Amino acid sequence: MSLNISIPNTRQKTIRDLAVQAEHRRNPRLSATQQDELLTRTKSLLKTQNAVLVAHYYVDAELQDLAEETGGFVGDSLEMARFGLENDADTIIVAGVRFMGETAKILSPEKRVLMIETSAECSLDLACPGDEFNEFCDMHPDRTVVVYANTSAEVKARADWVATSSIALDLIKDLSTRGEKILWAPDKFLGAYVQKETAADMVLWQGSCIVHEDFKATALEALKQHLPDAKVLVHPESPGPVIALADVVGSTTQIINAARDLDADTFIVATERGIFHKMQQAAPGKTFIAAPNAGEGAMCESCAECPWMKLNDLPRLEHTLKTGKNEILIDETVRKQAARSITRMVEFNTRDRTA
Ligand code: SF4
Repeated sequence: MSLNISIPNTRQKTIRDLAVQAEHRRNPRLSATQQDELLTRTKSLLKTQNAVLVAHYYVDAELQDLAEETGGFVGDSLEMARFGLENDADTIIVAGVRFMGETAKILSPEKRVLMIETSAECSLDLACPGDEFNEFCDMHPDRTVVVYANTSAEVKARADWVATSSIALDLIKDLSTRGEKILWAPDKFLGAYVQKETAADMVLWQGSCIVHEDFKATALEALKQHLPDAKVLVHPESPGPVIALADVVGSTTQIINAARDLDADTFIVATERGIFHKMQQAAPGKTFIAAPNAGEGAMCESCAECPWMKLNDLPRLEHTLKTGKNEILIDETVRKQAARSITRMVEFNTRDRTA
């Protein structure tokens, strides 16, 4: 009998339906003039409200550029949380998905944290409701609970540790070396990858990212044969057979660094397409090709786009700045408990990088 917990088909369907709804809620592309006008207005609003824009690599290029031009930040979820913690702005505007806004609020409770779009979900977060997760933890009281950053505040509050994809391997290796048995949630692919690499004793929640689970190994293998000199960069939320074809497996920041540092001109990239903007900045002149994700069961033909990340845009940012709506509020007991597991992650990461 497997100790891992499966996700009911009805929930998987609900998650897919929510993703399709989000795709339909994307605003139409702006004209160049409209975009310039909006940029001018949002820059002014950010300044007058002493607000900083903190953006994930997966949001559109104009938001990433705006964040950097106005003293904000672009990074992965761990880096975003750390920037929000260290920055002295009164308001943090999160261009990303809900768990990122919650993480910012958990670490910076005295600040006002606003989302550009509160319905920007994450399929991993949706796949792991707090009440069911608590029951799963109660079934395994002997295990150290490690949850991926892509979870709700409630789930983080139950965890001993939070991990991002940039530190998951190091953290689980460290815990396993100390003889700890692990309960991992919610990403089954990242969990299986870490389990394989570390040989740790792990039980896995069976959530997945709707973008990364669509990458196809057979088509990727064919593309590799067509482009034998290309290096393959894969995010570990992808299925095992896709990971097996990678030259580098890593978090978003690690993928960008690999594109910059590796001696290759062409890269096949298995992660959300928004990252190409930073990769092109980090490695100008190199060519980046999206890994194939078309075919049966795929969300789209070859989009590699997160429908929730793409809800973040300039019109919605202006609306948030004007109205002050979309504030993240978290119950203080939950926040304090979640802060413990996130702070341990931040401290582990600092210790690991400076050791
Ligand atoms: S790309 Fe996947 S993991 Fe990232 S926010 Fe979207 S659904 Fe979640």
